[in-house]
Amino acid sequence: MRPTRSYWERTSLNAPTDFLIVGSGFVGLCAALETRKTFPRASILVVDRAPVGFGASTRNAGFGCFGSPSELLDDAKRVPLSTVIDRVERRYRGLQQWLSWFSPDAFDWFPGGGQEVFSADKYSLFKECEAFLPELNRQVGSFMNHSSVYSKNETKHRCPSLPYALSIAIEGHLHPGKLMELLRKKAQTEHIVLRGGVTIEPFSHWTRTEKGWEIPSQEGILVSERVLVATNAFTQHLFPELEVEPARGQVLLTAPLPQGNPWIGSFHADEGYLYFRNVGQGLLLGGGRNRFREQEKNDSGCTSEEVMNYLESFLREHLLPHQPVEITDRWAGTMGFGPKNEKEPLVLQKAPGVVVACRMGGMGVALAPSVATEAVSLFR
Ligand SMILES: Cc1cc2nc3c(=O)[nH]c(=O)nc-3n(C[C@H](O)[C@H](O)[C@H](O)COP(=O)(O)OP(=O)(O)OC[C@H]3O[C@@H](n4cnc5c(N)ncnc54)[C@H](O)[C@@H]3O)c2cc1C
Repeated sequence: MRPTRSYWERTSLNAPTDFLIVGSGFVGLCAALETRKTFPRASILVVDRAPVGFGASTRNAGFGCFGSPSELLDDAKRVPLSTVIDRVERRYRGLQQWLSWFSPDAFDWFPGGGQEVFSADKYSLFKECEAFLPELNRQVGSFMNHSSVYSKNETKHRCPSLPYALSIAIEGHLHPGKLMELLRKKAQTEHIVLRGGVTIEPFSHWTRTEKGWEIPSQEGILVSERVLVATNAFTQHLFPELEVEPARGQVLLTAPLPQGNPWIGSFHADEGYLYFRNVGQGLLLGGGRNRFREQEKNDSGCTSEEVMNYLESFLREHLLPHQPVEITDRWAGTMGFGPKNEKEPLVLQKAPGVVVACRMGGMGVALAPSVATEAVSLFR
């Protein structure tokens, strides 16, 4: 038995809305803003099961990236090049969207460029990627307004075990927590109501009535004409039939390095499964999921000793071998992937007035604005 809502609550806080958005990560909040733009007079409520944060959006590595050469080469072996480039463009435009909404300094945007680095045993992959660069540059140059986004790195890299590198211009990194705060403030100034601590029950418990969708939650029944579900990795709890698998991503961060940080900018290694960047004079390192595949299909949000040990060894042996290093932070977040490495986000109408936008992989910081726009367009 659940307590019923009072008349006062039912006619104010829990009053029916025009739009209910489930999930207040980057996708949910961008979708709320896009809904406001498209439906200026609509009432919009965004709910999340967490009081604040705890989705991937505030637990990632903060790369503002649109694809490293080996990632895009691998994609191009699976799907037509036009599909790959379309996704690059949506990621690039997503980053431009953040920069048009907010001052770069307000979310620590650092356009220091990126590099993909290769170990000696990946020399043939490095050469294959290098050969792919002219075509990549031709394709992305038109919308990035830059003739050589990808280039060979002429300098020998500072790490003997990662001797080869390719540069990625325009790429940057940011502070996802600050970006989230800005987004929440923007939503509130647009009269979008944000509510945390509301867990929405599976779709099979929802009912369609003449008032709209009646949606049970632990906070009572919510009623809304239209619903957009942006629960990413957790979507199977609502729609078990959708192909979204959780994948844990783990990250550690060092204190400012006393001898200075040799790794300023954004770096991709091990075909994108390892990523590192500076946070001021500290170094953030994340990934390693490919070494522990089965155990990382996990949405606990907790770190594991095995992955943390692996990351820490890589950090001490390869990235900072001659420095004392203090690790100050360790955390995990949950990404949503498709089966068999399917990378395309899932944006679809599930029922009349119910749209789902999820499965953002490791790309949602950049992709969220474009995916949100696509999802809201399904309501028109
Ligand atoms: C370690 C790590 C590193 C990453 N690094 C990068 C990167 O550098 N660059 C990049 O582009 N991407 C990166 N990503 C991916 C990126 O963070 C995600 O793709 C993106 O944040 C997804 O946003 P979202 O809004 O779809 O999902 P989320 O931010 O996960 O939001 C989903 C929300 O739904 C809520 N929710 C779930 N179920 C319910 C329910 N039943 N009722 C109510 N609320 C519910 C959750 O609480 C959550 O807040 C990384 C992810 C991780 C974990």
